[in-house]
Amino acid sequence: MAPTLTPKTLPDALARLDSLPTLPAVAVEVLRLAEDENASAVDLARPIERDPALASKLVKLANSSMFGCGTETTNVRDAVVRLGVKTVKLMALSFSLAKPPTSADRHAELLSAYWRRSLTLATAGRSLARAARLGCEDEAFLCGLLANIGQLVLLELLPVEYPQLLAGTERRNPTLAEEEAALGLNRGHVADALLNTWGLPERLRMGAQWALVGVTELESRRQADARLRAALKLGCLAEQLLSSDGGADALQALLAAGAEQGLTEASVNDALMLLESELREIASLFQLELPPGRSHASILEEARMQIVNASLGAVADLQRERHRAQALESVNRELSVAASSDGLTGLANRATFDRFLSEQLARRSQGGMQKSLGLVMVDVDHFKRVNDTFGHAGGDTVLRGVAQLLKRGMRGNDLAARYGGEEFALVFPEIAPAELAAASARLRAALQSQEFVLDGRHTKVTASFGCAHVTVVDGTLDGSALCEAADRALYRAKQQGRNRVVSAGALEEQLTPNADAGTAPQEDRPS
Ligand code: GH3
Ligand code: MG
Ligand code: MG
Repeated sequence: MAPTLTPKTLPDALARLDSLPTLPAVAVEVLRLAEDENASAVDLARPIERDPALASKLVKLANSSMFGCGTETTNVRDAVVRLGVKTVKLMALSFSLAKPPTSADRHAELLSAYWRRSLTLATAGRSLARAARLGCEDEAFLCGLLANIGQLVLLELLPVEYPQLLAGTERRNPTLAEEEAALGLNRGHVADALLNTWGLPERLRMGAQWALVGVTELESRRQADARLRAALKLGCLAEQLLSSDGGADALQALLAAGAEQGLTEASVNDALMLLESELREIASLFQLELPPGRSHASILEEARMQIVNASLGAVADLQRERHRAQALESVNRELSVAASSDGLTGLANRATFDRFLSEQLARRSQGGMQKSLGLVMVDVDHFKRVNDTFGHAGGDTVLRGVAQLLKRGMRGNDLAARYGGEEFALVFPEIAPAELAAASARLRAALQSQEFVLDGRHTKVTASFGCAHVTVVDGTLDGSALCEAADRALYRAKQQGRNRVVSAGALEEQLTPNADAGTAPQEDRPS
């Protein structure tokens, strides 16, 4: 038979069902009395005493570790007093629901798994509600029991299709969406229809729905009962942790929800550990044989290990990310070095030189510099001959050697740049004119005595040096005037026979109208 159930056809289907769970007369009576403000504990005890099975369960419950207080209760009246009217009402209903699966039951295995889940949900909700002092333990318990009751009805209504659906899903527990896709409705629709027929209070019906969806997606038609919802949410999360392989995610979700209700990790932990014996006790009250499950301690331990491993993984991810960022940074550094330096010699390139010089001039224009800014233009003498004699590659080797020699001979704050071809520019940001001349002379002499070995042949080169310096700078001076002054001095050095240093002197004097008179270039010649 193909399932033709829909939420619309459901009431009819329920009405036709003979084996629909029904509320025993005693539960109906207890429910009625509990709603009656004038009914006493004695009134409530009376119908219960007529149902020995229910009576003995309530007495056992009153003596259980959840309610027991040292002295044993042996009669229903004491039990009612100890449990309280509300608990008696709700537990009488709860006990009425549980029909232990017999071996003759067609779906014994499914039912036993169902009861394990339902009792875990109910007991966990109860336990955590108590730990968080939410004051709705019994309702949480009953709603937990009622949450999945639609499954029992579906087993009766669709004895072939529903077990098939169960068998095809993870943990034999389809999601509401899977039920709807396969059957046209889900267990929540069925539970609601059933609880409606039973005339259960709205709050319990809503609670059963909350417990089913586990979270606060459903809005109560009346004022939402935040405490019951919180208790049911805790119960659902605990059930997911304990009955499934929820692991780390389930534990973290439970701890977060617990924290919202003021529960510490330790108190959630204690409640879950206590739950193990409570669950056994409750199952025996319900005369249910629970399939053996894993110990709560081992479930918690595994979930905690997963959290630890996940956070170790996160640390490793972070480290990988940091290494990646460092690698990227070093690539960027290399790229920016590559963009700012000359490929052949490794010195600063022309663009870097221009930037450095104008930065230094700008800085100087703000004042505070003691000495002068010196610029030296260096041009290798007769370099064409080197190329002609040793080839272009030999010429390159010489250029690299000259570059290294210049750089080694300068201080950290000075800049040696390749200006172009066989020409170099040296910037000394803070140097006295005499020091500039001395440094240039030292570099010239060092180069003169440097031997290059090209293809096994020894050779030497010389260079001509043109110096200029400036001390006081206003904001309008750019580097070109200083470069031109140094260039002119270099030109003179070439003219005067090369391999020498010619100083143009102070730029300030060159720029004044009668400069020529007092600025005879000083010279350094080869000895
Ligand atoms: P001077 O003493 O008057 O400066 O004579 P010079 O031969 O050095 O001057 P010139 O400017 O006529 O020649 C410079 C030569 O430098 C020409 C060019 O081929 C060579 N040159 C420029 N850049 C490079 C380079 O990167 N590698 C090599 N090997 N040679 C270069
Ligand atoms: Mg040249
Ligand atoms: Mg040259």
